[in-house]
Amino acid sequence: MTKFISIVSGKGGTGKTVTAINLAVALKSLGRDVILFDANLSSPNIALYLGMKTPSTLNDVLSGKRHIREAIYLHPSSLKIVPADIYALGQNYPKKLSSVLLDLIGKAEIVIIDSASGLGRETLSAISSSDESIIVANPTAASITDSYKMVKAVESLGSTAAGIVLNRVTKSQSAVFPEAIQNYTQSHVIAAIPEDRNIEKSISISHPVVCSHPRSPASVEFKKAAELLNI
Ligand code: ADP
Ligand code: MG
Repeated sequence: MTKFISIVSGKGGTGKTVTAINLAVALKSLGRDVILFDANLSSPNIALYLGMKTPSTLNDVLSGKRHIREAIYLHPSSLKIVPADIYALGQNYPKKLSSVLLDLIGKAEIVIIDSASGLGRETLSAISSSDESIIVANPTAASITDSYKMVKAVESLGSTAAGIVLNRVTKSQSAVFPEAIQNYTQSHVIAAIPEDRNIEKSISISHPVVCSHPRSPASVEFKKAAELLNI
């Protein structure tokens, strides 16, 4: 059985890509066989954040030039990665994202799908193809309202809202925000990831923060979240 999990949010910049990468690596280091899949065709960031050169991408698979096998890369952390083309301009592809995801069944235990923000075509497809979706929110009123809408959207698309990753939480917020967001969205807060400047440092050296700064506050919470996820 392969389990598909989408990482989504209403607005951009909440930390979806950072969460997708670090949860995937943390799950891998717990012994799980994981594919990290970049379904954000408008601003793909996985290969960029990980400093990977990827001659074949998801875009080539969607356009029918390559088989999905040719677009799966092995990261040094042993994580498998399906990147999207960072230079591609918006385009309509003959092949559907949902059928590419179906082709991954049996190729890993868990597929973590990083999505574009909002509910564009690919994100709708990613959510509909996912067993569970994780909503990434920031501790602001706007982001929390957005998350409530995303929980409802995920449920209406037939996926399960696995919960919320509250990201960029400061010390003073950590006492009140997780409970407040849980009450407002009626969804469980899986993790409260602190604001951590090691994340920016890790991106600048093209490493997941859980590898480059394993004891940093954000890494500790990402690893706890992977253990708690019970996938
Ligand atoms: P999204 O994929 O939702 O658009 P990203 O994962 O690309 O967002 O993150 C956006 C920016 O926020 C990145 O530059 C990253 O360095 C920064 N960031 C994300 N999470 C944190 C955090 N917990 N602490 C500090 N900076 C963070
Ligand atoms: Mg992103």
